[in-house]
Amino acid sequence: MTTLQQNLEKLESHLAHFREHGILNQIGDEARPAISGATFDNHSPVDESFICKVAKSGAEDVDAAAKAAKEAFPAWRDIDPANRKKILHRIADRIVARAEEIALAECWDTGQAHRYMSKAALRGAENFRFFADKALSARDGQVLPSATLMNVTTRVPIGPVGIITPWNTPFMLSTWKIAPALAAGCTVVHKPAEFSPVTARILMDIAEEAGLPAGVWNLVNGFGEEAGKALTEHPDIKAIAFVGESKTGSMIMKQGADTLKRVHFELGGKNPVIVFDDADLDRALDAAIFMIYSLNGERCTSSSRLLVQENIAEEFQKKLVERVNRIKVGHPLDPSTEIGPLIHKTHLDKVTSYFDIAKADGATIAVGGEAIEGKGHFVKPTLFTDAKPAMRVAQEEIFGPVLTAITFKDEDEALEIANGVQYGLTGYVWTNDLTRALRFTSKLEAGMIWVNSENVRHLPTPFGGVKASGIGRDGGDWSFEFYMEQKHVGFATGQHHIPQLGK
Ligand code: NAD
Repeated sequence: MTTLQQNLEKLESHLAHFREHGILNQIGDEARPAISGATFDNHSPVDESFICKVAKSGAEDVDAAAKAAKEAFPAWRDIDPANRKKILHRIADRIVARAEEIALAECWDTGQAHRYMSKAALRGAENFRFFADKALSARDGQVLPSATLMNVTTRVPIGPVGIITPWNTPFMLSTWKIAPALAAGCTVVHKPAEFSPVTARILMDIAEEAGLPAGVWNLVNGFGEEAGKALTEHPDIKAIAFVGESKTGSMIMKQGADTLKRVHFELGGKNPVIVFDDADLDRALDAAIFMIYSLNGERCTSSSRLLVQENIAEEFQKKLVERVNRIKVGHPLDPSTEIGPLIHKTHLDKVTSYFDIAKADGATIAVGGEAIEGKGHFVKPTLFTDAKPAMRVAQEEIFGPVLTAITFKDEDEALEIANGVQYGLTGYVWTNDLTRALRFTSKLEAGMIWVNSENVRHLPTPFGGVKASGIGRDGGDWSFEFYMEQKHVGFATGQHHIPQLGK
């Protein structure tokens, strides 16, 4: 295993290029600065040090990128899917070859611990492989014959699409959205989050190295209100796949209304982990801790609400407190680190503001409840107990390593609490009673539920949320439902009667 020092040395060589040239946009075959020449500075959440300058794009850059994507669309749509498959596999190969560099850069840019980012980089490659193989069947449809017609359905790519991604696990999430779009035959304009632009540029370079034709994938950096907004409003962009906050999703829907944008949203969550008294409590404890404290709690699927049955709550919470107290906060490139710094100062301030809110509302801070003094955006892993379902810490997405524990009496009460929030992304149910598991999951309002398990992603299954957590599904064929249009063609099988007007 490499040490922190070794990781820092390797990182320096990987970042040298960005320090010298900054992060450029990609328009067609050209890596270029914003047309206005504007840039913004990107800093590391680890020690607030300067990483590099980044192109600050405006509407004119988005327009150039959308035009490049439009121009490249017909050829990419019509390319032999076997070639498309080959190119996407080559992208996956290049990701694997550069996985270490990607992981180190992602840690430095986002504050995520290395133990998770090395896996996230490889998951990015898997996303490309999975959709590369599906490229061959993307156009598949059905034959639905009637008495007089051979009705054939097929799928065609919708056109150039805009993909807007957030700063949490940005590399993995970008691959998750871009790979199916390309496999479907769409061309792409990607706008990564302004707080984590580094690995999006590495990914773009990889696509070029892999031989993706110019213009099929374009990159515009910049801020949401400027570059992001222009992308959602652009008439040549047929659909927007967005991952981010629920309130941003709502804004994008309004911005896209004039051009009738199709939208796909993966939004926020306040996901419950529900522990019944008959569960395997040791495994439930491991999973509950993992699902909120890994990835800094900056994870849409985090189990940020613990609902624990009253009669086991004291013992369960006692063990929880012991474990959370031992979680190691530290430098993200230190292989032993479990929690790194939060993405930026404003986010740290948001997360820590909930400590006072919790106290004012009458919850107990059982662990943590403080930022860590010094450089970087570090916060202690935190546990609130004695929380009530209506409290803000039980309702609002905090998006940090902060768990709110609530007790419940019986199944009905657990369900009421679990469903009593605006979100519905994931749910985690711990019980050994099969009938209860079936009954409970059928009523739990969430797009994805795991029983006696943490979140384990299987790429053919649908991923997405209900209520304020999202619109649409990704994964398997569901991704193609979004990136493609169904097309129907009816072929007459004989000389059926055609009504004769004006004869
Ligand atoms: P955010 O909504 O602030 O930003 C996401 C992206 O949208 C960024 O690229 C940003 O520049 C852009 N953006 C902002 N305003 C825009 C506008 N008006 N028009 C177009 N684009 C705009 O989200 P964030 O803070 O970067 O990410 C954290 C959020 O993402 C959390 O709420 C989290 O739950 C959510 N998330 C959801 C999933 C999921 O699968 N459901 C996955 C990851 C993250």
